[in-house]
Amino acid sequence: MSLKTLAFRSIDLLAPVTPFSLTRNMIGNPLFLPFYHVVSDHDLPHIKHLYRVKSKRDFSADLEFFLKHYTPIGPDDLLEAVNKDLVLPPNAFLVTIDDGFTECEQVIAPLLKQKGLPAVFFLNTGFLNNADISYRNKASILHDRILKNPPSPGTKNEIHRILDSAKVAQSPLEQRLHQVSYQDRAILELIADALDTSFSEYLADKKPYMTDDQVRGLLKDGFHIGAHSVDHPLYSRLTLEDQFQQTRESMQETARRFDLNYRFFAHPFMDNGISADYFDTLVDNNEINLMFGTSGLMADPCPINFQRVFMERSADRNARAEINEEMLKTLARRLSDQNTVTRSKAVIDSDN
Ligand SMILES: [Zn+2]
Repeated sequence: MSLKTLAFRSIDLLAPVTPFSLTRNMIGNPLFLPFYHVVSDHDLPHIKHLYRVKSKRDFSADLEFFLKHYTPIGPDDLLEAVNKDLVLPPNAFLVTIDDGFTECEQVIAPLLKQKGLPAVFFLNTGFLNNADISYRNKASILHDRILKNPPSPGTKNEIHRILDSAKVAQSPLEQRLHQVSYQDRAILELIADALDTSFSEYLADKKPYMTDDQVRGLLKDGFHIGAHSVDHPLYSRLTLEDQFQQTRESMQETARRFDLNYRFFAHPFMDNGISADYFDTLVDNNEINLMFGTSGLMADPCPINFQRVFMERSADRNARAEINEEMLKTLARRLSDQNTVTRSKAVIDSDN
């Protein structure tokens, strides 16, 4: 067994008993960028089967924890540090929120304001004003529908046949819904029809995303916004051309619509598998000021791309436990010199 494997296997045992400040000092007090999607005390069918929905109380406790152990910075501080090659204060942190759900303006922003904390909210331009909803959220809605109102055996068979047509791997029905890819997302509409469910009715009724006016309210309160692609595809499965199209269209539309004098972008899902060519081109053209991924505390070879820590992974862990685990993983990766994201050259696929 390698040292790294041994270290990773020990993390579950070590995380609860390792003093937080000790681990943080060991990794050198790096910039900490937590990211969230939603905070709510209500039932959210479009999210609850994807990741943990933190309550207001739990999110407030996270913010208290950050304020106690970290130094808040704004995205302008990060941008200045990048542009002027400055060193950020030790244990700097900046909260970021992805996907542009209505709770950003209704719940998260008021709690951040109470604590005087800056934040960046990243929006999908295809979903603003509830024009549509991400295919992953559609899967969660269908999952919820099946649990709350189990379909007849005939309807279940019909849904399995639809999933078979997209070659979705065999597993229990609810799990199969979550395996539908961005490329096959149209079949979720067929499944919704089979379940007598309508996503457009869901959007009209629940209004899960922010409106332009809500986004303008965030800006008025001093928060920053950025783009998060048009309709939330997994970039590693897109061609380089489509990656650029998603990034540029959403970035330009966000900047135009909200009259921004900066360009911030967070990659949907993760930036793993995106080529070095993509990042080099965006940096060389000076198209974006700051970009973000979701690989925890890993370092990034692109000078304007920063990795963030997912704070909604576990149903029962507080911020201290989540971050401690992430820091121990970082130490384990450093043992084998693997704590920097690696990226290959672009593969030009002639079939696309
Ligand atoms: Zn997202």
